[in-house]
Amino acid sequence: MGLAGSGKGTQGEILSKTLNYSYLSTGEYLRGYITGKRKEEMLAGKLISDSEMIEIINNFLSNSDDKTSTILDGFPRTLTQAEWLIKASKEKNFLVEGVIYLKVPEAELLQRLLGRGRQDDTAEAIKKRFSEYKNSTSPVLDYCKKNNIKIFEIDGSKEIEAVQAEIINKINQG
Ligand code: AMP
Repeated sequence: MGLAGSGKGTQGEILSKTLNYSYLSTGEYLRGYITGKRKEEMLAGKLISDSEMIEIINNFLSNSDDKTSTILDGFPRTLTQAEWLIKASKEKNFLVEGVIYLKVPEAELLQRLLGRGRQDDTAEAIKKRFSEYKNSTSPVLDYCKKNNIKIFEIDGSKEIEAVQAEIINKINQG
């Protein structure tokens, strides 16, 4: 977890290779097929509906074999998604190992995002994504804590390699 630009994709992909986990970015997945008005909404920084997101993850998990572990980048992003994931983990008997939370000051994120230049990296859409995060996504952290899921808080403002090293270090400590 982390605000837009905090490095979820970069760090998640590196970590998946190190741990030999599979990796799923919901944002990347959506960008692969979404069109029309919904694409515009997504590019404006609005979240996609919980029901669609849950269906995507449910299909993904149903098609993964029992021995595969996965890094989910961008899910859960709302309380409803988190509730579903924890309920599903109990029903389907899989483990939510923990949450990696990348913390970066907003001013730095703004610089990073404007420099990255993805289609949804406009000043207006960034503002919307930050506010979606504060309103919808940050309650997920508290919910996970309440459900005894480990949160690994990482200083995401450092260089890519240093952030990755801190992630590895913290998850090894458990
Ligand atoms: P990301 O690539 O993680 O920055 O996500 C890009 C965009 O995809 C977000 O701004 C949302 O519009 C959409 N998105 C990705 N994951 C989710 C999710 N779990 N729930 C709702 N919308 C999502």
